[in-house]
Amino acid sequence: MSERPQPTAQIAAVPTTTPFVAPEELARRAGHSSLLRLGANESAFGPPPRSLEAMHAGLQRTSWYGDPESRELREALGKRHRCSPSQLTVASGIDDILGLVVRAYMPPGGTALATLGTYPTFAFHVAGYGGRLETVPYEDDGTVPLDRLAARAGELQPQIIYVANPDNPSGSFAEAGTLERCLAALPRTTLLLLDEAYADFVEECELLRPAVRDGVIRARTFSKAFGLAGARIAYALATDEVGATLQKIRLHYGVNRTAQLAALAALEDEPFVRSVVAEVARGRDEYAALGTRLKIATLPSHTNFVCFDLGSRERAEAMVDELLHRGVFIRKPGAPPLDRFVRVTVGTPAERDRFAAVFEEALSALGSRSAWSFV
Ligand SMILES: *Cc1c(COP(=O)(O)O)cnc(C)c1O
Repeated sequence: MSERPQPTAQIAAVPTTTPFVAPEELARRAGHSSLLRLGANESAFGPPPRSLEAMHAGLQRTSWYGDPESRELREALGKRHRCSPSQLTVASGIDDILGLVVRAYMPPGGTALATLGTYPTFAFHVAGYGGRLETVPYEDDGTVPLDRLAARAGELQPQIIYVANPDNPSGSFAEAGTLERCLAALPRTTLLLLDEAYADFVEECELLRPAVRDGVIRARTFSKAFGLAGARIAYALATDEVGATLQKIRLHYGVNRTAQLAALAALEDEPFVRSVVAEVARGRDEYAALGTRLKIATLPSHTNFVCFDLGSRERAEAMVDELLHRGVFIRKPGAPPLDRFVRVTVGTPAERDRFAAVFEEALSALGSRSAWSFV
């Protein structure tokens, strides 16, 4: 036995791999001073102008804590979603919310269920809190296997089932009716943790209603369509009872004051957010057309990214490296059947043009290598 302090057995068992290698680190490793950032689904269109103004005006008060209740923001969000502030929990990103929900609802030794290869932060929290993650693979067309997830939940009786909708990394989306069927088939004791990071990119009428439902926690963020990823602010929508539970454990001052101001102002800048959503839709169409021109299939997407089918895991991995070498940061899904795809965020028109040119160069560079022909 070591004499020195040791982490708990639960934490010692967690693999030391960092969740993601950051683009800053990738740039350092590849010897680039900066990268074209199309790998983290950040908004290429920046924060709403009103948020920028509000942040500038509020900077001087960084010496103050933010309102720990995020009262003003929760009231504005309550109007937006027609629910009460007590049904809203503000936190520093969906990543934070996923951790709170796992901690609150899954005991050590408990079970959680998710699609194999979906957004990984949920899995890190399950491991960190001593749970077991069971998975079901995507359908071959990249959609989330809702029927099979519900059936598996019936067998496993997990405390939590995690569904990202629209999904990352596939970009697929299940409309309200489909989700409703899945929900009806879940065990009564299983909580549906619905990660709606990309909900702003789909029509409101296609989303599950009403906003607050028994047995469901929905997570929304200002990181994607609202362009505030670096501000770290998001919220959970759930019943009063769930709200009161999360309230007990959330970090009291975990959301910074400047982010609160930015989020509040963003809600008042609807025309800007709508213009971002419209431009992202144009960008997705452009990526699909690029795929058609290069004879590379793409997955239909309801998000701010598109997956390109490179034909095999090896080719997709080689493409990520080749693009990094050329100063472009993208990522790829890690698990079959989606591991043969690369995932590319929709950039500004100029960034899309640059991506198209570099992607084509990278394809011919890879195509001319001998290893390429027999993978
Ligand atoms: C980007 C993303 C997140 C992270 O959201 P934050 O609010 O920035 O923590 C969560 N879930 C999914 C599916 C995402 O793609």
